[in-house]
Amino acid sequence: MTAAAAARQILLRLTEVMASRLHAQGKLDQVVEIIGECLSSEVCSIYLLREGMLELFATRGLNQSAVHVTRMAIGEGLTGQIARKVETLNLAEAKAHPDFQYRPETGEEKFHSFAGVPIVYRERAVGVLCVQHVEPRRYEDIEIEALQTTAMVLSELIANAELIDEEEALGLTSEMVGPQTLAGLTLVKGLGAGHAVYHQPRVEITQVMAQDIEAERERVYRAFDKMRQQIDGLASQAEFGVGGEHEEVLETYKMFAYDEGWSRRINEAIDAGLTAEAAIERVQQHTRMRMREIDDPLLADRMHDLEDLANRLLRIVAGQVGTAASQGLRRDTILIARNLGPAELLEYDKRRLKGVILEEGSLTAHVVIVARAMNVPVIGRTKGVRTTIREGDEILLDASAGSAIVRPLPQVADAFQARFAKSREKQALYAQLRDVEPFTRCGTRIQVMMNAGLRDDMAALSMTGADGVGLFRTEFQFLVSATLPQRERQTRLYRDVLDAAGDKPVIFRTVDIGGDKSVPYLASEIAAQDENPAMGWRALRLALEREGLMKIQARSLLEAAAGRSLYVMFPMVSEPWEFDAAKQVFDEQLAFLRAQKKLLPERINFGAMLEVPALAEVLDMLLPRLSFLSIGTNDLTQFLFAADRANPKLAERYDWLSPSILRFLRRVMQSSVGSGVDIGVCGEMGGRRLEALALLGIGYRRLSITPAAVGPIKELVRKVDLAELTAAMNGWLASPHRSLREELAGWASARDIEYD
Ligand code: PEP
Ligand code: MG
Repeated sequence: MTAAAAARQILLRLTEVMASRLHAQGKLDQVVEIIGECLSSEVCSIYLLREGMLELFATRGLNQSAVHVTRMAIGEGLTGQIARKVETLNLAEAKAHPDFQYRPETGEEKFHSFAGVPIVYRERAVGVLCVQHVEPRRYEDIEIEALQTTAMVLSELIANAELIDEEEALGLTSEMVGPQTLAGLTLVKGLGAGHAVYHQPRVEITQVMAQDIEAERERVYRAFDKMRQQIDGLASQAEFGVGGEHEEVLETYKMFAYDEGWSRRINEAIDAGLTAEAAIERVQQHTRMRMREIDDPLLADRMHDLEDLANRLLRIVAGQVGTAASQGLRRDTILIARNLGPAELLEYDKRRLKGVILEEGSLTAHVVIVARAMNVPVIGRTKGVRTTIREGDEILLDASAGSAIVRPLPQVADAFQARFAKSREKQALYAQLRDVEPFTRCGTRIQVMMNAGLRDDMAALSMTGADGVGLFRTEFQFLVSATLPQRERQTRLYRDVLDAAGDKPVIFRTVDIGGDKSVPYLASEIAAQDENPAMGWRALRLALEREGLMKIQARSLLEAAAGRSLYVMFPMVSEPWEFDAAKQVFDEQLAFLRAQKKLLPERINFGAMLEVPALAEVLDMLLPRLSFLSIGTNDLTQFLFAADRANPKLAERYDWLSPSILRFLRRVMQSSVGSGVDIGVCGEMGGRRLEALALLGIGYRRLSITPAAVGPIKELVRKVDLAELTAAMNGWLASPHRSLREELAGWASARDIEYD
């Protein structure tokens, strides 16, 4: 008999029992009889977790008086080991195993062989199903498979409270749902509390046993087909378009998606009588168990990919398309994802999104920039997420400390709330600085501007008292739209932004799409061209060549700024002629509007971003054409170090306070002296205190930063004496260490300047 046939035989009989009017205990008693009979085993027992202990709930072959009496702790005896390690045991001689523990009340001394499988629910053992035999024999693979399939059915029945009541079902997992702390890398500082929501929600399997096997086969066949199509088209999706590892991940996905062995095992599980959903989960459980036995980090990574894919397949089969965003957030949420694109994050309800936990991620990835702009704390590179956090779990996210407490104890939650209150007090203090101009101790006025990208962000301008918007990322509108935004929509947005800013300047950066900011309507074009999108056809390169795109944006900006001052900045300028070409597009549109006798902007200031190191060598040629220059340290540092800003493996490798970056930035500042061009920094670097100190110390007087950093940086500016700081920086840069972090931290703390 095949494994499928053996399991099917058991399942058919179990179906009858489950459909019967028997009470829970009666059903369990029947289940052990059926399994024992079908596997020709003298003993079959079911242990279920209750109040943290594995309790014998039903048995055939052991003393009935032991039922609800024999209890083992997790990890105790063979049963306890199976639950703890969530693995199968198959022993010809149970007593020979070092973990064997004899329980006299069961009368099990006469049995030699033993096989047990965990009853798993949501990746945790909630019980154990085992068989024992007088003869010392190892159970055959098909018997073990049949046991595993049965355990799966039992787990769903337990979860659906058909075997025990709801309270017990909840009590069952108490051992496995205690508080846990996860560690990750701080990506956006802050505190947040809420309930876990997976970006790609898990599918709850409600029906385990198939009614019509052919129909289930067909469903899974179609789902595989669809999944393969999706994987083939994945390169263009933001979810996967992030990160230098994406090629590798994609290759692995393809390998699994087309793996005949995987689809065959799922089909076998269907033949055994499971629904398509249950079969996918059953095979996944089996793989998880096997992988746990192999302690290899590389394989663990691959397992992660397979989990992702199995979840994708499940969602296709179950018809659950779309991410959690499409279902809406119902309460305060900590969002959990492997990785996210910026557009995907923007789909979430800002009011309910209290934090993000990423399994990957890096400091300057755009999703992180968006989160920073939304003031949502984020940690990345977090390990053990899927095995620890269940959908709906309460989470306290302390992104500043790089940790997340899952299912906290009440006293921990109270302490967290107290810290929360403190941090709100601090925010209130910063708010008091709103109308205070940031003069240094020595009397120099520093321009502290903010970065923005959405209409909603503009509220932060008056809340923080920033000097204006030093970087308006116009591409955010492109990222949140399903199609290329039309001219009217663009004009409306820019006009609203200018209205909201009042007298304060707003520097509009023309679209910077491409790289990790992929948009669906251009994705295939970008992907087709680029092996390395960050250095590829993006930003100005794309805008200049995409017929109409730049023209439309130019016209929208000119119309929106009619009668006022307009600041336009071009991203990723690599050579001066690119600046000229971009400016020419504006000049032509201006001429057109003039001919139409339209009201024009009073004044137009053109600027460029310095993000590509090559531009620093031709500043003498570029500066005379500009009214301002803004240094994009996010891209600049990735190009200086040849380190992909979205690659999680490189996220911590290089420091913004390294001498190479700081010397480079100082040289740019020095070569612009006397040019009359206003030079500032608009990368994430300027929003961090020690980095801001370094920038002030090498001559920068304008920073454009994330709104949440405006208060802290204003506070810092007011404590600085520039002459003193400049002298210190020059000294450190003359004979530097690997990084100036320690020196700057020492300097700050000696002056009572907060710096974490
Ligand atoms: C930068 O590169 O530093 C920058 C400000 O632009 P973005 O982060 O949008 O690429
Ligand atoms: Mg950039």
